[in-house]
Amino acid sequence: MKILKKLLLVSILIPLTYSLSFGQQPQQQLPPRGQQQNPALQRQRAPEDSTVRMTHFQTEIWDPEVPMVQPAEKIGDPPADAIILFDGKDINKEWEEVSRGGIRPATWIIKDGAMQSIQGSGSLKSKRVFNDFQLHIEWKTPSEITGSGQGRGNSGVYLQELYELQILDSWHNRTYRNGQAGAFYKQYAPLVNASLKPGEWQSYDIVYTAPRFGKDSTTYFTPPRATVFQNGILIQNNVSLRGPTTYVGIPEYLIKKHGAGSILLQQHGNPVAFRNIWIREL
Ligand code: MG
Repeated sequence: MKILKKLLLVSILIPLTYSLSFGQQPQQQLPPRGQQQNPALQRQRAPEDSTVRMTHFQTEIWDPEVPMVQPAEKIGDPPADAIILFDGKDINKEWEEVSRGGIRPATWIIKDGAMQSIQGSGSLKSKRVFNDFQLHIEWKTPSEITGSGQGRGNSGVYLQELYELQILDSWHNRTYRNGQAGAFYKQYAPLVNASLKPGEWQSYDIVYTAPRFGKDSTTYFTPPRATVFQNGILIQNNVSLRGPTTYVGIPEYLIKKHGAGSILLQQHGNPVAFRNIWIREL
């Protein structure tokens, strides 16, 4: 009898010990093939407590699907979802001119598929307004050098009409570093001088994040930020702008709550030409 009892005890204990030592290992429940992307199924299979390991399915986000955009055949040309701000033909479709008397149709001229200011022109302002964007713009300073420093091929791209990315002929033309081509005027010098010779087409590719404002209308909640490539070279790396561009003074003192704004092309007395301008809202 004793032997029988021992045998009975052993036959109960062995499976019990086995289930205690191995049975608590979580059995990973993988969704069947073909159903792994179903978010409802992922929720069903979510762990009930932190002792259960995550599966990689729980960190995969499927929806909404990232939209496809057809890139341009040639890098620098507009991709399929870009807004064309200047295609070489019509200035007045997307731009108007800022003059002392107010807003008027553009007096800039089109020459060889590019637009440029003439004597007496004002700055050009886009009719559309923007917040966050990716902007491509091509520009050319006069091939014949006249003037020096800030007087040589001066223009500028104002983001939201307030923040100037300087355009200047900076090909062997010293000026203050925070005022040369590619500078956020009087705020950030470019990382390098990526300028081409005067008379050659150059490009800016700008990624801009507009400022956000809280209750305080004279302080940024988050400042405007910008990254810029000149001729494919990084010249501004996610810089935080201090405030609106000013020739003299403290940018921070000029901060005033604002919403979406235009792109403005500065008329600074030099015939700088522009072409192939497109923008993607972000
Ligand atoms: Mg300028």
